[in-house]
Amino acid sequence: MRIVFLGAPGSGKGTQAQRLMAEHGTVQLSTGDLLREAVAAGTPLGVRAKAAMDAGELVSDDIVLGMIRDRLKRDDAAAGFVLDGFPRNLAQARALEGMLAEIGRPLDAAVLIDVDFDILLKRLTGRRTCSLTGKLLNIHFSPQAELDACTRAGGQLIQRVDDNEDTIGNRLKVYRSQTEPVVDYYRKAGLLREVSGEGAVDEVYARVTAALRR
Ligand code: AMP
Repeated sequence: MRIVFLGAPGSGKGTQAQRLMAEHGTVQLSTGDLLREAVAAGTPLGVRAKAAMDAGELVSDDIVLGMIRDRLKRDDAAAGFVLDGFPRNLAQARALEGMLAEIGRPLDAAVLIDVDFDILLKRLTGRRTCSLTGKLLNIHFSPQAELDACTRAGGQLIQRVDDNEDTIGNRLKVYRSQTEPVVDYYRKAGLLREVSGEGAVDEVYARVTAALRR
């Protein structure tokens, strides 16, 4: 299975990609995660990427494409992969098509996760990670008992630096102007499967797997 997940920030791409990875043993490649690791490790690439990420802008294509090219070459990607957060613009989509054509392994599908704008905002502004367990939580949606369990155990509810209101607004704008054309690109290629990303994680996952069977 070789698929890409498309959707606005906060649409749940990462959550659904992780679930697919857990259940099918497929490699999940998230350019956002790879970039955050590079920033945290202070690598030259991370240093170059940080300002764009903090502003909610796209990191340059040469950085992101280099990362993807390296990652797709590794043995574990040969059996399939789920790309999450990439491609984010048309140049990246075309470059991916070229890379996969070279190895004779084209994409099987592009899954678009659709979520209403107001819900996206609440998901992004409320998103927190428990510093002890790494669990993703949300101050608007998670059960209070789960939020309390983290802090009572001595953990902190950490907010991603780019999950503040200014940066979120910019990330959503960038999605509209640069990433939405990628949706059309895959629609024209006959690869697009659209699912609603609203409701519980399990419900969305059921829609995703049904769409992939179509
Ligand atoms: P994400 O975790 O996917 O929301 O990505 C966080 C940030 O990393 C984005 O706001 C961008 O600054 C950067 N980023 C992630 N993926 C890409 C990509 N494919 N192209 C350019 N920038 C990216």
